Amino acid sequence: MSVCRTCGACCASLRVDFHPAELAGGAFAWGGGVPPAMTVPVTPAIVRLAGTDASPPRCVALAGEVGIAVSCTIYAERPSPCREFDTEHAACKQARRRCGLSPL
Ligand code: SF4
Ligand code: SF4
Repeated sequence: MSVCRTCGACCASLRVDFHPAELAGGAFAWGGGVPPAMTVPVTPAIVRLAGTDASPPRCVALAGEVGIAVSCTIYAERPSPCREFDTEHAACKQARRRCGLSPL
């Protein structure tokens, strides 16, 4: 099982912005596209995953308990920043530290 399934720190510590074309029905939607109801508009060219700028942050699409067992409820439709993020990303370590988890 991927270590990410027992982590979720990035989904609970980083702001996630992307282009509205990745929303459901958009020209660059992955899978079915990100459900608009899970996002907030920022500018005409940017939407944000709801909850990722909350204090503390937590994406509304994240299910489970960070550091124990998590899943992304829109995994197939998640936007490009989520697709590009993995354990090799410099911010992975930072996110884990913020959530009280040790580096990998
Ligand atoms: S912070 Fe790193 S280990 Fe944790 S879910 Fe994100 S990519 Fe995976
Ligand atoms: S959409 Fe999924 S992968 Fe992306 S931040 Fe939210 S829970 Fe994490």
